[in-house]
Amino acid sequence: MQFNRENIKIDDPFKWLEDKRAYVEETFGQAIDFAGRKLYADFSGLRVNIRASSVGDLREWGIGGGADTYFASSIDLFVNPMNPNFNTPELGLRLRNFAVHEAHHLVWIKRHGWHEDLAEDLLLEGMAARFELELGVDSSHALTKPYFLSQFDECMCLTRLEEQAIHIINDPDYDYTGVDHKDWFVGYKGLEEFPECGGHFLGLALATTLLEETGKTPITAMDISTADVVGWWQKRYAKGLRLNMPLCPSRQQITESMSLKVNNDRLVLE
Ligand SMILES: [Zn+2]
Repeated sequence: MQFNRENIKIDDPFKWLEDKRAYVEETFGQAIDFAGRKLYADFSGLRVNIRASSVGDLREWGIGGGADTYFASSIDLFVNPMNPNFNTPELGLRLRNFAVHEAHHLVWIKRHGWHEDLAEDLLLEGMAARFELELGVDSSHALTKPYFLSQFDECMCLTRLEEQAIHIINDPDYDYTGVDHKDWFVGYKGLEEFPECGGHFLGLALATTLLEETGKTPITAMDISTADVVGWWQKRYAKGLRLNMPLCPSRQQITESMSLKVNNDRLVLE
């Protein structure tokens, strides 16, 4: 069932979006339909709230978003046309990134619920990022920060994040509700402790390694339980095995991929 475009609500108090409005709506809508077909999900009742504002966007993109974690029935998309990184040739690709990413979240949350558990959040974000990559939208926001790091720094960053996460997960008394999702997944407490998009990056490494070792896809792995993943991860870590570095396409590769022509199984990129 197709996503009903009448369910898009636009909040644009300063008329920042005017000339881009139809483009944003249609690009986002098409990507939701595409993700829905891949996930066998019925998005006909989905609501999408698009807000043009100077808050809530990823600084490097001028776009932000989130899935409704309670009812799994809506997506919020924040667009910031005042951000110089918004109106670029990559806009369409990034809108599609967000659409398929949040669509995967909705299906995941419907199956598993939302428990504010670090391991579960890492899995939720990592699988959504893998889903983006699977569909050919390879500028996943899980990869935005590491663009600016050297290969060595990426490795250090991932190692440190994995240590931090395993430490939390191994502590039976640790209360993850005391950890801010934003710190881990957006990065507000300074880059050292929580690098921007660090949780997305670690989640992507977790999902990538898990999928490689199990032969599953972000769609067939939808039923996997967090407890099983945690057990698998703890065992690997105790043996000295570390998560695999996720694929980090360079900016040039992304620009090239955007000019690829239509392929039935991948998103249409202009
Ligand atoms: Zn996400």
